[in-house]
Amino acid sequence: MTITVLGTGTSTGVPQVGCMCEVCQSCDSRDKRLRSSILIETDCGRRILIDCTPDFRMQLLTFVKPQISDGAQEFPLWPIDALLVTHMHADHVGGMDDLRPMELFGRVPVYAEQRVCDDLRERLGYCFAEKLYPGVPSMELRPIAVDEAFEVGCIKVNPLRVMHGQLPILGFQFGKKFAYITDMKTMPESTAQQLAGTELLIINGLRHTPHPTHQTIAEAVEWVTKLGVRQAYITHLSHAAGLHAEAAQLLPPHVGFAYDGMRLTV
Ligand SMILES: [Zn+2]
Ligand SMILES: [Zn+2]
Ligand SMILES: [Zn+2]
Repeated sequence: MTITVLGTGTSTGVPQVGCMCEVCQSCDSRDKRLRSSILIETDCGRRILIDCTPDFRMQLLTFVKPQISDGAQEFPLWPIDALLVTHMHADHVGGMDDLRPMELFGRVPVYAEQRVCDDLRERLGYCFAEKLYPGVPSMELRPIAVDEAFEVGCIKVNPLRVMHGQLPILGFQFGKKFAYITDMKTMPESTAQQLAGTELLIINGLRHTPHPTHQTIAEAVEWVTKLGVRQAYITHLSHAAGLHAEAAQLLPPHVGFAYDGMRLTV
């Protein structure tokens, strides 16, 4: 599978509006972090989006390029076969209205926990009304539960429990090849056991100082070591993480900072 990292920033994004710090003023493209999300392309050609941020439209326009095949440019839009939602915070679902163009391909299947499905139905009531306004995004909510794996094409997705402070949210694991965890503060032992030995892990780390609902960069590195992960990248970073060029140097060799537009194959 190929993973395109669409965004690596915390809820405010980096630069943070109105901030004059060296990270927010940096010219390094790796210090420009849209809200956190990834796009997975599976070996059988399915596309799985994890979270749909307020930056979703720009992320597609910027990082997902039209493909050239047989000398002709393919139509630069394709279906999203699954949208996996980690939790209801605005920085993870705020771009769902921009799923509108996907209507061409039918409904986008949205996989989320039952209470998140209920919440989405309420917040985006106009998408689920009996009489739909023409052009509203077309979605189908599919409730999922922790440790009840489901399939998207050829790939098995296992939803894992992680804790975002007091809020239980989901991480997603794709066999032992890859897992994506965001907005985590702690994880239960059962999740740690599932994640042990994962080849590639994208995991959140906000900054260096503690935060009530997000783990620090050092805590993320600690988990990577404890879980025996081969390669890991840290996401959901704030401007307080420091300049990419400097702060990433301080990480162990098998851990890096993810950056917007990064592509990984596993
Ligand atoms: Zn977040
Ligand atoms: Zn700043
Ligand atoms: Zn959150």
